[in-house]
Amino acid sequence: MAKDGVKAQYVTPPYLTITSPTHFTLLTGLYIENHGVVHNMWFNTTSTVKLPYYQTQFKNDWWDNGSLPIWITAQRQGLKAGSLHFPGTASTYDGETASVREVEPIMYNYKNETAWRENTDKVMSWFRDQDLDFISMYFGEPDGTGHRYGPNSPERQKMVMQVDRTVGYMRQAVKNYGLEDQLNIIITADHGMTTIYRDGLVEEITLSKIPGFSFSDLSFHLVDYGPSGMLLPKPGMLDKVYNALKGGHPHLHVYKKEELPERFHFTKHERILPIILWADTGYVINGYFPVQFNKGEHGFDNEEMDMKAFFRAVGPAFAQNWRWDLRDGQHLPTHVSHPGDTAREERRRSGGHQTHAERRRESTDTGGSVLSNVFVGLAAVAGFLLLVFIFFTTKTFLKRKNKSKRSQSNEKKERESDKQSNGERKENMYVTQSKGEEKENEDVKQTSF
Ligand SMILES: [Zn+2]
Repeated sequence: MAKDGVKAQYVTPPYLTITSPTHFTLLTGLYIENHGVVHNMWFNTTSTVKLPYYQTQFKNDWWDNGSLPIWITAQRQGLKAGSLHFPGTASTYDGETASVREVEPIMYNYKNETAWRENTDKVMSWFRDQDLDFISMYFGEPDGTGHRYGPNSPERQKMVMQVDRTVGYMRQAVKNYGLEDQLNIIITADHGMTTIYRDGLVEEITLSKIPGFSFSDLSFHLVDYGPSGMLLPKPGMLDKVYNALKGGHPHLHVYKKEELPERFHFTKHERILPIILWADTGYVINGYFPVQFNKGEHGFDNEEMDMKAFFRAVGPAFAQNWRWDLRDGQHLPTHVSHPGDTAREERRRSGGHQTHAERRRESTDTGGSVLSNVFVGLAAVAGFLLLVFIFFTTKTFLKRKNKSKRSQSNEKKERESDKQSNGERKENMYVTQSKGEEKENEDVKQTSF
């Protein structure tokens, strides 16, 4: 992929480097303090209820905070967007969802290579048969295996090979579906992973052991979730809790929310609790006693190299064999914007519907850099799950392949399907059940993402 397209040196995820917050940054281009999905777990500090990752996917108010994910932005610009298993897919935003979407069932087996191939084919058919322009797709590995066995384990190496085979399958599928002149693929991740040290090797961080600290001074806490934590002290107890914990362990960092270094961009949102904790790489934060046994973790400072993620992009809109050296703190903007967007938005408002062919023509008329057209839509944040963004970029297609037979027949097909759909948006939601995976599901019980 690096030879055929763009390879970034690395990309920096936002802090907090855990799944739902980082994915929502990928979808919105906003720092976590601005989009408000501040944790994998929905929580309520009054009732002290916390919901795990999967249930939180369905808590609409957790996600729909006034920031629009890229699917909705794209749809409002007259494009068609879809999503498969990507965190945030289950929610509705300002009354809208991705027009074609699939949410994974509970206890989904994220490791099944056959399912990865089926999902790849499904997404390709969405592009070819349902005329979609943009799809986000999520694979939950090698994250799960890295948590369980550690990032440097043989099990994890095997899983990375499975990911590699799947990327090969995906690139072949692009050809099989006749999309190679149109489809741009970006593969990245939402965070990295690092090895956790256990007692015996190091002194673990256990808050209850720190002199002067007591859980009875708190009205709510979020700890025992990897290397990060947030605390809500009872009224009048903030300084007592803060002073007890500050310096309480050589590898524990303790900040009042407003004093957290600005580079984290993890201060402003009201959901962020008054005291923020994070551990150095190799350590996790335990509450009353150690209850975390993962051999690999993420959630650390996003400047740690182990938290950085890979980035590859291939397709007609990308340069070939181009290495992209990111400067610190460099980010990519996030909306599917384009010189033609205003015109499209106008048309959408007036009820018109565009075919891909019309969009292509418009793209060519309006000019602009292909690369910038494609990179809009991404954030340079990522980690160690595998994500796939597929952009249907039209401009280069027209330039290179306008006269090919296939493109002509495709345009005809699009015109016909446009007539059939009559400008109406399709509202499909698939919730599939995994078949025959009960045995493998034993491996799926880990809850970290
Ligand atoms: Zn994870």
